[in-house]
Amino acid sequence: LRAEFEPLIQLQEIDLQIQKIEDEKAQCPRHLEALREILQVKEEELHDLRDRLSDVRRRRTEVDDELQMETSRLGKSQQKLTAVKTNREYQALLKEIDEIKKANKTREDEIVTAMEEVETLEAEIKLKEEEVERTRTEVGAEQKRLQQIEAELNGEIASLNRDREAVAGRVRKDLLARYHFLRDKRGGIAITAVVNAVCSGCHMNIPPQLFNELLRNEKIHYCPTCQRLIYAGEEN
Ligand SMILES: [Zn+2]
Repeated sequence: LRAEFEPLIQLQEIDLQIQKIEDEKAQCPRHLEALREILQVKEEELHDLRDRLSDVRRRRTEVDDELQMETSRLGKSQQKLTAVKTNREYQALLKEIDEIKKANKTREDEIVTAMEEVETLEAEIKLKEEEVERTRTEVGAEQKRLQQIEAELNGEIASLNRDREAVAGRVRKDLLARYHFLRDKRGGIAITAVVNAVCSGCHMNIPPQLFNELLRNEKIHYCPTCQRLIYAGEEN
């Protein structure tokens, strides 16, 4: 009977190892995914900064144009001063000139502010571009590292699968089918030892009569609680 159980126990050990490696493989891309998310955020931030820069530049150009136009209007108004006939006209023109000057002063201030903003934004963009570039490099390196690890793990799985085939070939067909069924239903543990009349799979007691039969080692038995294949383990 030992000969019937032994390969199943080995098979289960191999399957558990394969499962462990598969789990490890599934965990592998997590760091890459996190890095990609960081990269995306940084790229969006860079995009926003560039948008803001072009807004400020556009606004600056508009104010520049206005300033030019208003400066030439100011010149014309100042020329008109010499030609006015009445004091009322003269006062009105002076008021207009004063208003244009005030507005132009505001425009000049706005241009200075815009220039400062452009400088700040350009510096921020440069830093952000460097960050994006660094993160891109990290993503590339992580991708490469991941491919290597995955290749190694796939190699291990392939080797285990070869062992598995050899071992599975030594198991009776119906028993193998039962094993696969139980493995999938019982979290990878299809065959388990009974120690001190307790099933190691579900930790329930085995009825005395069944336990006695189990110790005789003549027939394959199933745990009445979890249905796993059971064999008599070493007492402790
Ligand atoms: Zn059980």
